[in-house]
Amino acid sequence: MLIKSVVIIGSGTMGSGIAAHLCNANIPVTLLDLSTDISTKARERIYKSRPPLLIDKKKIDNIKVGNINDDFDIVKEADWIVEAVVERIDIKHKIYEKIFKNRKSGAIVSSNTSSIPIKILSEHLTDDEKKDFCITHFFNPVRYMGLLEIVKNENNDLKKIDSLKKFCENELGKGAIVCNDTPGFLGNRIGVYAMQVAMTEAFKMKLSIEEADAVFGRPMGIPKTGVFGLYDLIGIDLMADVLKSFIKELPEQDPFQEVAKEIPLVKNLIETGYTGRKGKGGFYRMNKVNNQKILEAINLESGDYSPSKKIEMGIDTVNLKELINRKDKYGEYSWSVISKIIKYASSLVPGITDKFNDIDEAMRLGFNWAMGPFEMLKSIGVNEFFNRIDNFKNNTFLEDLSKTKDENFYGSRQLYTDIETLGKVKPKAIKTDKNKSAEIYRFKDFNIVEFTTKACALDYDSMDALKKATDKPLIVINESMQFSAGVNLSYTMNFAEKNDYKSIEKFIKYFQDTCKELKYSKYPVVSAPSGLTLGGGFEVLVQSNFVASHTNIVVGLVESIVGLVPAGGGCKEMLWRWSQTPEAKADPDFAPLKVFEIIGYAKTATSPIEAEPLKYLRPEDKKIMNRNSLFSESKKIIDQNKNFKAPNESTFKLSGKPLKAKMINVLEKLYNEKVILDHGMKVGTELANVLSGGDTTSDKLLTEDNLFELELRSFMNLIETDQTKQRIRHTLATGKPLVN
Ligand code: NAD
Repeated sequence: MLIKSVVIIGSGTMGSGIAAHLCNANIPVTLLDLSTDISTKARERIYKSRPPLLIDKKKIDNIKVGNINDDFDIVKEADWIVEAVVERIDIKHKIYEKIFKNRKSGAIVSSNTSSIPIKILSEHLTDDEKKDFCITHFFNPVRYMGLLEIVKNENNDLKKIDSLKKFCENELGKGAIVCNDTPGFLGNRIGVYAMQVAMTEAFKMKLSIEEADAVFGRPMGIPKTGVFGLYDLIGIDLMADVLKSFIKELPEQDPFQEVAKEIPLVKNLIETGYTGRKGKGGFYRMNKVNNQKILEAINLESGDYSPSKKIEMGIDTVNLKELINRKDKYGEYSWSVISKIIKYASSLVPGITDKFNDIDEAMRLGFNWAMGPFEMLKSIGVNEFFNRIDNFKNNTFLEDLSKTKDENFYGSRQLYTDIETLGKVKPKAIKTDKNKSAEIYRFKDFNIVEFTTKACALDYDSMDALKKATDKPLIVINESMQFSAGVNLSYTMNFAEKNDYKSIEKFIKYFQDTCKELKYSKYPVVSAPSGLTLGGGFEVLVQSNFVASHTNIVVGLVESIVGLVPAGGGCKEMLWRWSQTPEAKADPDFAPLKVFEIIGYAKTATSPIEAEPLKYLRPEDKKIMNRNSLFSESKKIIDQNKNFKAPNESTFKLSGKPLKAKMINVLEKLYNEKVILDHGMKVGTELANVLSGGDTTSDKLLTEDNLFELELRSFMNLIETDQTKQRIRHTLATGKPLVN
């Protein structure tokens, strides 16, 4: 089955997200709604969306719009029709009647419903029509969420389901998991249950919401919004509707029912407009006291708000065994929550899917968990789990496992896809080294480095791992969300606060040496970024010989925001790339001025298409829709470069003082217009010093080492200033920039 054109009915949050993503995959798509006005507005929303739903905004006109009365004929040509209208069965039924009257024979029809079973959606269809009807449950925001659940039942033509899955995997880049027609499918059934357990146990154990979020968050490999923060983000009223639907659909004896009961405090929040971030606030709220914004948290017993307290768990890496064995209330809470999630998830196999592995992968892709319930069981240890768990009657999975107590019960990862992914390869590879910031694997005849810190922030150890791994062809890649958010600012600030600038200088030099090694070692180095690839993360990428980039990247040199200049080769490489342009051949100051603008404004790109004009990526760098394919594409590059030769070293000619004067002119104008303040002027001046070549003249040849030296000097000049420290402290505390 070839899908060459798609019609989407309903242009709300999901319909427009799916349309934008089909447009990203260059598939012609039409959005139909009750009126053309509604679908036109949806297209405008797509254009303005942040984070952007489109990889290339210029393609917006490839999304056609119309209404279901005048433009329905377009359905006759579609290979796939997606229904994404409001969650009302009467409306959906009417639409299916119209679709099936018009669709071409064999065209697939799917619903994006999150709660209505296929058997009800399709109850008026003929047997032949039922063969082609399924649920395609995309997650919001569609471009960024990896999971797509394809829900089928016994009436489906399985060959067709399989080819739809392949299309969604290969063309749309989704982690497409096929599952059975049960309430909430995989992700929401487990994800919402987990949230409810985390919430009800917090009430029972009298934990504050900050405490619950601090445990049911990073320490468990769950996003830091935790449970109450996530409730606020989704919308407390929306969650109440979701729960009502589960209560209605699930049998009375399902353990979900116990944790889905209405909680008086939650009911009261909804009734008083505290529906979460979109309302007046929720479990957390922003309050203004003496003109200062203060984050407040609700007391679960009294319902009163007071300033939110930061809970320091002192945990950097996920270690469930350690967590559940803590001799404090956090240990008790984590065991209670984790054990209930494992018990519930395992009780649903094979009912909701015959592969337990699919549940784990759905939790990774749909809820951004670092591991699913079964991986949690594996990491706690089977024996340890059974020593502590009370009863598990009628749970076939646990009963069977309790007999074998097989610690290796898990088997392979990511069974839902045929692609050779990093997740599948890691258990087969040899872990040759590991430090607190990175791991090195040897697989076949090459190395893999995976960063393991929060947001993959880089420090001395990350560089050490990269350096050690250049003794073979190398792929720098990771499974966590970000490639790297840049140099670890806390790590750098720890030294700066103690005036230990020697250690900072040593680290930056080591960073530079490592990047040089990546570029010039005799084996090829491939970087495979996804997510944030900023600052130092970009410097690793730009000094790798090859790049295989996911289409969801945010890439750029953002050091100026925290009062610094790129010092790991970022200035140098951008100068080199821009100096290869025809404009630069005609005007020697063209490249440095262009780079001055890009780095000075800390420009970022939110896709490879945006990154190329800035030269953050090159045309020859691979751009890949499916994140799962990053590893196999990188491996292909290594295979194709058996006779790799390191590049020649770059040299530079820069005009020095007169060029610097031009840059200072730009800065003065910005200063006079109050776009930048005193320290902005200082940062800009240091950047100008690097990019103009320092104390040089246009006839002199500068080496890469000369540029590294200039970067280092300016970086050190800036890190020693109070104003840069103020900027860093502010960004670390608030995540926002400070203009000073
Ligand atoms: P929405 O309210 O944002 O959009 C629904 C759209 O359907 C509106 O533009 C409305 O004008 C249009 N519509 C209503 N009746 C119509 C009709 N007869 N013909 C054509 N258009 C009609 O809803 P949404 O959040 O996009 O949800 C759509 C579907 O996706 C629902 O089934 C929902 O359960 C499911 N879903 C939503 C999310 C989410 O996060 N929002 C996630 C997964 C699945």
